[in-house]
Amino acid sequence: MRIQIGVGDLAMFVHRRGDIDDRSEEQATAREGIATQRAYQQRQKLEMPSYDAEVRVARDFAYETIDLRVSGRIDGVAILDELHEKRLVIEEIKTTRKNPNSIPLCDRSVHEAQVRLYAGMFEHEETVDCVETRLTYVHPDTNATTTVETEESIEELDSYFEATARNYCEWLHDVCTRIEGRNASAAKQMFPFETYNESQLPLARAGYVSLRDETNLLFEAPTGTGKTIAATFPAVKAIGEGDLDRVVYATARTTGQRAAASAFSLLQKANADLIHVTVSAKERVCLTPGAACRPDECEYAKGHYDRVRDATKMLLRKGSVDRAAIDAIAKTKKVCPFELSLDVAEWSDAVICDYNYVFDPLVQLSRLQSRLFKRVGLLVDEAHRLTERVRDMLSCAFDLEVFDEAVAQVDDPSLARLLQPIQNSFTQNFEALLASPGEIAVDEFDSDLKTAVDRLFDADAVRLLTAAAHDAVNACLFELMRLRTIHAIRDDNPAKFVWLLNRSESSRTLTLRCLLPDAWIRETTASYHGSIRFSGTMSPGELFNEEHGLTGPIKQVELTPDKRRLSVFVVPNISTYWSDRAQTAPALAQLITQIQHAAKGSWLIAFPSFAYLELVAAQLAESNDVLVQKTQMNLEEREEFLSRLALDERTLAFVVMGGVFTESIDIEQSALEGVVVVSPGLPPQSLERERLKALSPFGYEIAYRRPAMTRVVQAAGRVVRSETDRGVVVLIDPRYTRSEFTRYFPSHWAPQIVKSADLVPELQAFQKSVRH
Ligand code: SF4
Repeated sequence: MRIQIGVGDLAMFVHRRGDIDDRSEEQATAREGIATQRAYQQRQKLEMPSYDAEVRVARDFAYETIDLRVSGRIDGVAILDELHEKRLVIEEIKTTRKNPNSIPLCDRSVHEAQVRLYAGMFEHEETVDCVETRLTYVHPDTNATTTVETEESIEELDSYFEATARNYCEWLHDVCTRIEGRNASAAKQMFPFETYNESQLPLARAGYVSLRDETNLLFEAPTGTGKTIAATFPAVKAIGEGDLDRVVYATARTTGQRAAASAFSLLQKANADLIHVTVSAKERVCLTPGAACRPDECEYAKGHYDRVRDATKMLLRKGSVDRAAIDAIAKTKKVCPFELSLDVAEWSDAVICDYNYVFDPLVQLSRLQSRLFKRVGLLVDEAHRLTERVRDMLSCAFDLEVFDEAVAQVDDPSLARLLQPIQNSFTQNFEALLASPGEIAVDEFDSDLKTAVDRLFDADAVRLLTAAAHDAVNACLFELMRLRTIHAIRDDNPAKFVWLLNRSESSRTLTLRCLLPDAWIRETTASYHGSIRFSGTMSPGELFNEEHGLTGPIKQVELTPDKRRLSVFVVPNISTYWSDRAQTAPALAQLITQIQHAAKGSWLIAFPSFAYLELVAAQLAESNDVLVQKTQMNLEEREEFLSRLALDERTLAFVVMGGVFTESIDIEQSALEGVVVVSPGLPPQSLERERLKALSPFGYEIAYRRPAMTRVVQAAGRVVRSETDRGVVVLIDPRYTRSEFTRYFPSHWAPQIVKSADLVPELQAFQKSVRH
């Protein structure tokens, strides 16, 4: 196997030592670094006529089945013919504003290794007496230099290169041996159940073809039909057939991650060499919450790089790497669990992670595509959430009062100087555009703002943010960093972004909002070797493809509706239009009470807003057993709410669509008889939605109807969560009979239109049919 690697990466992999230190990165920008380095090289040339800059080198190394080629460019080479000896000088230049004596070991160890490797790779025809390696740090503002010189023999440097290359090859050889075993088992991998159900087979087939042919499949199948295993199985088959090197499974929430990990563990039973890892957010896995990632604040940061290779090896041997496994090894080996999970992910076959690590330009993991794992398949679970999540990733907001307070806290004068033009831009332009309370949307806010933000991040002051240690300042800097990133993405598609200015009596908010992230989703997905986006709520598929900027195949499982399993009733004679709500609230409350008395079990009653929920709740007799969702519920209150729903018979749980009880919680099935969805709940008009509506022929659907109907189908989806579940969905509003709305219904629904007066007998008939 032929593997290529740059000197920097090789040095980093084999020789990095020391602590994690969030102050350790280089301070100079790439642009500054190049300019400073060139100027320094010119000065060296004047001093040493034999000095050559940017000398390309490459050296091969063979080990077992691995042919390694190491390549790079030496910053400076000179042969000095001195009085008693001929000396070869190999120089590595680093541009930094740091005091060279305080560069942490995690960086210094890599720099030193780089220059020694270069010296071991340089081929020279002249006979030299010794080799001098020079590691030179240059300050980009003052051009002050500090050089560390070391003298070694050619033989020593040659052995150093060989030992380094061997170390890397031994690691690669172990990985390649495992991959061979993995591929052989994956080629023979069988579906881990005796049979496929009617949605699993089409998903597995279409999914395999998509990953093999590098297309972007969109797949809809009902909740509880085993989509997770039906999506992961073809990915492992594609690995076995040599079409893929690894798969990334992106989820919208942690419950999805657990399901994915279980599916890969199931496949692993027949393939011991298959390794999967779940990467969780840093805040979730951190063992020293609240501390900075530095040796003086976190014991796991101290000496992390000295031990992380061993820890990585231990985890890779486990094969199934979840949070508990990472936690245990991180504690035993005293390494940072988050960094450890990323290192393990780099060498794993299946990486399970949040959407962030794939789509967020600020945190996406570049290591997911690597030397041995080039062709990476992408699985996107709950893909109906993708547009909204990516839209948020490409948006940022500033509360100007909070921003002003943060700037006032900045102690460092140079950082304060750089923030000042940004603060001025925010304040002056905001005042000019929106002087009194209200909200406006504009295409441009201030053309000079981008330059001011670029200057901030090009400068040394950003390094001081860690020293500044004010949370408020850090939060603002992070949001400015997001603004800078979004600016760059927006340049390609300015029409898909909008500035929103909102002013009340006491606050001013400035938001740069992405309207449609289709181009970014397309660009990100293009770096993968095919994808499967799947969910129970992806009708109509064409619309989701439009939102995702993708043109791949669409597959929707046409399940035969089974009314004994799921009965869907539409009650059109109670209008829930906003203007009718007060008038129809008594009739609605009466119908809900009848449902409660007629049908055994508990019901989720989903409303489009808290105001509507409270209006109807107020109509119910006090004797009714009603749980009501509150606007801000903490974890304990939510658990209490769910346990009461599970324990109490005939409870009505009034909840809001799109909230925590209709989207992100699996309600214990035995607890729920059915779901009543009150109104399609179209979102109110807003400046943002109106802009989005004007963007494309599908604008109205993407801005209004699709998000509303996704919430409806999600809320309805709480009732039947597995193949053995039974339940009822009641949709209340005349719009549920119109094709513009019914086109969003999943294909396995067979809605029956009934008047409110006829609903109770229908429910009783359903219950009877379930009992028999
Ligand atoms: S354990 Fe927490 S504080 Fe320590 S290095 Fe890791 S993430 Fe940073």
